[in-house]
This record gives sequence, C-alpha cells and structure tokens, in this order.
Amino acid sequence: MEIRLDGEILNLRFSCAHFLPTHTKCERIHGHDYAVSVEIEGANEKGMVVDFLLVERHIREIIDEIDHHLLIPNQSDVLEWHKSGENLLISYNGRLLSIPEVYTFHIDADSSSSEDLSIFLLNSLWERLKDEKNVKSLKVCLHEGPGRVACAEKQ
Ligand SMILES: [Zn+2]
Repeated sequence: MEIRLDGEILNLRFSCAHFLPTHTKCERIHGHDYAVSVEIEGANEKGMVVDFLLVERHIREIIDEIDHHLLIPNQSDVLEWHKSGENLLISYNGRLLSIPEVYTFHIDADSSSSEDLSIFLLNSLWERLKDEKNVKSLKVCLHEGPGRVACAEKQ
C-alpha cells in the first residue's frame, strides 16, 4: 500500500539560497522556494501504514532547520570553505564569498542541486522513520519550482 503527502497542498515549503559551481549560470548565488512531497510504501496494519501527521511533523522539523540558509555541500570537490571568526569563507572558480556561518547550512552531499538535496532530505526522513516497522520504502520529491521536480527513493 502507498500513502502520499503532497508538499504543495500541505505547505511543506522552505526557501534556500545555493550555488552550483559547475554550472555556468547557476554558479552565482540564487534561491528557490522548494516544496517537499513524500510517497511511502508499506504494510497497512490496523488501517494505517504510518501516521500522516507524524511524517508531516518530521518533514517540517527537517525543513525548518534548512529554511532561509545558504546551502553548503560538505563533500564538494570543487569548492573550499573554512571558518574565519564568525564567518565562513567559501571559494570556488576563483571567487571568494564571506558569509556569517549562522546563515549557512551544511549538507552531506557533493552539491546543493535539487537532486542532491532530495537525497539529503530522503536520508534525513528515513533516519526519523527507522522505528516505523510498516514502512518498506520511501520516496522524497523536491519541487524546485513549477514543473521541476527531483525525486530520490530508498527501501
Ligand atoms: Zn538553483
């Protein structure tokens, strides 16, 4: 059985700034208003796969942490960053950014593309749902903007 949570209808939204060093246009800092949708497959035990409200709460906790930050991909091999006082100095493609560290959010990923961000969200939600025995697989779809969606899944 499958259950779905539609992030656009449920308002599971957040906004972030990011940059993609390997992309000509997107190497400049810009932002997106994202929405997160989820599909869960699992056993329907006593009329429920997993509580919709529980999943919704987990998603909100995850995206509230990320919301209104500049995303820094920790595993990128095309950018470098280090702390300088309360700032983070980020360099890539011969450019140097200086930004208060509290304005940044690090994700364990190669980049902050929607594809890699959807994997980060998938892993974060999967970890929070690990005690839900009925859940067999999870798919997280990240809406980057109208008509643009990246989905990651695991089981
Ligand atoms: Zn972008």
